[in-house]
Amino acid sequence: MKETRDSIKDIWGERTPHKDGKWPTRVDERTLERPQRWVRSACILCSNGCALDIGVKDGRMVGVRGREADRVNRGRLGPKGLHGWVANHSPARLTRPLVRRDGKLRETTWTQAMNLIVRKTKETQKKYTSGAIGIYNTGQLFLEEYYTLSIISHAGLGTNCVDGNTRLCTATAAQALKETFGSDGQPGSYSDLDVADCILMAGHNMASTQTVLWSRILDRRAGDNPPKLVVVDPRKTWTAREADVHLAPRVGTNVALMNGLLNLVIEAGNIDEDFIEEHTVGFEKLEAVVREYTPERVEQITGVPVKTLRAAARLLGGAEKLFSTVLQGFYQSHQATAASVQVNNLNLIRGMIGKPGCGILQMNGQPTSENTRETGCDGEFPAFRNWHNPEHVYDLAERWNVDPMKIPHWHLPNHAMEIFRNAELGSIKFLWIICTNPAVSLPELHRIRKILSQENLFVVVQDAFLTETAELADLVLPAAMWGEKTGTFTNADRTVHISYQAVDPPGEARSDLDIFLDYAARMDFRDKDESLWSNGWTQRGRSSIGRNALRVGSAIIAG
Ligand code: SF4
Repeated sequence: MKETRDSIKDIWGERTPHKDGKWPTRVDERTLERPQRWVRSACILCSNGCALDIGVKDGRMVGVRGREADRVNRGRLGPKGLHGWVANHSPARLTRPLVRRDGKLRETTWTQAMNLIVRKTKETQKKYTSGAIGIYNTGQLFLEEYYTLSIISHAGLGTNCVDGNTRLCTATAAQALKETFGSDGQPGSYSDLDVADCILMAGHNMASTQTVLWSRILDRRAGDNPPKLVVVDPRKTWTAREADVHLAPRVGTNVALMNGLLNLVIEAGNIDEDFIEEHTVGFEKLEAVVREYTPERVEQITGVPVKTLRAAARLLGGAEKLFSTVLQGFYQSHQATAASVQVNNLNLIRGMIGKPGCGILQMNGQPTSENTRETGCDGEFPAFRNWHNPEHVYDLAERWNVDPMKIPHWHLPNHAMEIFRNAELGSIKFLWIICTNPAVSLPELHRIRKILSQENLFVVVQDAFLTETAELADLVLPAAMWGEKTGTFTNADRTVHISYQAVDPPGEARSDLDIFLDYAARMDFRDKDESLWSNGWTQRGRSSIGRNALRVGSAIIAG
């Protein structure tokens, strides 16, 4: 066994201070046996997306090591990355499809399972239209899998009842970016953190959630040009303990706090008037609103002392390179989008965006969850196209070679809770749940479990484990996990990593891509001229992903 450190006890590892604007490398490794070969991959357990190699011996994973050359982590791995791969070996993995017969889930063949899905799809379409088919997916597939699912949903079936569990996690990130910038793309890079002179972490406990990125900050703070750190969190987290100024507002008062900071920054004249004039709208309105949030009033609402608020505003207003990050403390709180947008506004009025050391990252939960949004599996359309913009819809229809009316743009996409509500009311008859466990993770569990148990709802669950949701399903499809399939994913700062298949999935489990391609072929989805997958597909899906998946998948990567 080789372990470069006990990452459970020593979460962030030894300090390797930045020198001359560069973050030194440090390779972390944990292997239980000496690998026979290493397979290139990246960690999917937080949105940092650290690059790593998977060690393989005799067809089994035996450990991981960080990839030294990678810009995201320069060889480092945190406790989740070093230990998470062990889950692949769980004896609880699903290995064969299961179908409900006489009230019990019993093993079946892939052919029977896929024939049943296709038959149920066609029956539902014929009797109720494709609008009666719902797809509730995940933040954990690979880009190519999501994109294939997006084509199936939007160009194959034509349903607008598609959403990911990202809806309940970091939907605020998408919404805040769209509200401010008109598009859900992240305007920042981890490289900016190497040169920023002030960092704001709003509701973001980076020390616990993105441990390698936190090492990058600690290493800057230990280096020759340390940045100031302002942290907003009601709790005294590890992140907050490190801060130069810790703002601990009462829960639910983030908007008032941000308004107070914006007011002080504007009042002190720390704004970039040229930038505001050239690149923003509505500054006067913003100024009028935040003027009402005097430090004394903000203290009354938030509990943050006037002195502390002023100290934070001085740092944020005086910085020459300001970088801001946002996460769940803002997303899962009162007025989530408004509070997160005010962080965007802080960088905008200071002109701190689009140049080195300046920017914003509205963080995600996992690198793969960014792909849910990029590909339109959150109910939007691929590459951040807007369902409400006819030009976007026509452009997509042209790329997919389908009639624009096939693409469901006549109504707002139904979000996750609406999909379940529609199932409850009986207007959704077929619900395909992919790599997520709503019987545990959605609000009002008793209601969700009752919905999933309805006689007149056909429920398919595609997962690696027999989850609480799978136990209620009519059909269960065993899926491969990370390391058992090849694909790419996009981390929070838009670095795309490829993860190669290192080992075979257990038993008869298949990659999600294989399952989607098999379904698409059996459904015989067509564009205007030929099959939507006219370049062919294979049962195992490894050699031929399909013309459309490759074409637009690579366009997203290039973007
Ligand atoms: S910081 Fe995130 S991506 Fe990196 S090893 Fe830890 S969990 Fe994985």
